[in-house]
Amino acid sequence: MPIRQFSTIDALMLGHFQGCVSVADILKVGNLGLGAMENLAGECLIIDGKCFIGQPGGAVVAADAKERLAFATACDFPMAGTLFQAHDAVGMDQVKARADEVRMAECGSDNIPCVCRIDGKFSRVRVRSFHEVKAPFKPLLEIAADQVEASRDDIEGTLIGFWFPRFISGVNQEGWHFHFISRDRQSFGGHCLDCSLASGLIGCRRELSFSVTLPEDEDFGKLPLGADLSARREAIENESQKKEED
Ligand SMILES: [Zn+2]
Repeated sequence: MPIRQFSTIDALMLGHFQGCVSVADILKVGNLGLGAMENLAGECLIIDGKCFIGQPGGAVVAADAKERLAFATACDFPMAGTLFQAHDAVGMDQVKARADEVRMAECGSDNIPCVCRIDGKFSRVRVRSFHEVKAPFKPLLEIAADQVEASRDDIEGTLIGFWFPRFISGVNQEGWHFHFISRDRQSFGGHCLDCSLASGLIGCRRELSFSVTLPEDEDFGKLPLGADLSARREAIENESQKKEED
């Protein structure tokens, strides 16, 4: 099963928060995935064939089948095959470095997309979500300062991750993109800004097929997607780091 994607990361950057796929339909194409809900009303967390929403503050609720997503990436991923143990990865850079070791063992190249799942005990996890917004939408960068961050210490859960090569940048997130969900599937989850993995198992799988379905609404057609938005994507990352330093 290929990686299936709906809308593009740059459309999200430009404020295209209109729903383009239902929860029911995204679950037909993958049992592991991540994304953003329609109207930016929470971070999407797909795990073991179920869809959850990480709300501002980190609380997690089950998504209704009829709810829609503005952006989503999903695929089938059995947590089988070779799993790699990891210990004491402190901070996002170290967690990404461990994931990269497994990715390179599986993919052998920076030109191949990778799906990743990390189950374990985390000494710290920090996530973000947005409050629901109403049309007309502003670009994500203009509301980035309103993102709600929350963190937990000593929590069991799963990182859902995708890694995309640079040449897919703009279509999806270049490099790693992780969302976190707690093991109880209710107490904590969202877009992962930072984490430290005390101990866990990392599974990665290379995926040579990647299919994108674009939104059919008129607003998508009007977005200036010909522009290079890499500076905006970086600015959003920096907004998170700025908050971290405050
Ligand atoms: Zn995210």
